[in-house]
Amino acid sequence: MGAYDDDNIFARILRGEIPCSKVYEDDDTLAFLDIMPRSKGHVLVIPKVKAVDLTDIDPAALAKLMTVVQKLSPKIVKALGADGFMIQQFNGAGAGQTVFHLHIHIIPRWEGESLKPHGTTMADKDELAETAEVLSSALAD
Ligand code: 5GP
Repeated sequence: MGAYDDDNIFARILRGEIPCSKVYEDDDTLAFLDIMPRSKGHVLVIPKVKAVDLTDIDPAALAKLMTVVQKLSPKIVKALGADGFMIQQFNGAGAGQTVFHLHIHIIPRWEGESLKPHGTTMADKDELAETAEVLSSALAD
């Protein structure tokens, strides 16, 4: 694991320097839509503390992060009428990690629908905005 880079894309999103399609936020956590979704409603949940990957976060902060993942996932499934969800999390470039701020992927799944490849196809802007609106109201309470 390398040192935390303060200019990684998710650090910049956390500082509000670049936009994101936010769907949920609390004191410790931010959740937003992946710009290259593997399925409709693909959400990234990130801690506000600096952590490169799963090995780099205090266990108590990780517990908070996973509690949010557990809380949001079924709400995302319900709001989008999905059949289930998949959790993905990469550690290290060799394992497929491309952004070096810890993040958990919540990927809604529909029976019989295959996943798009990881991080390859940009989402349609209007579809992203529409999904963000649906999810932010579904995740508000
Ligand atoms: P990983 O590091 O787990 O391989 O994946 C990083 C994820 O971040 C990818 O799924 C990619 O599509 C997503 N991503 C990369 N850059 C941005 C960005 O600027 N905004 C958003 N919302 N997602 C991004």
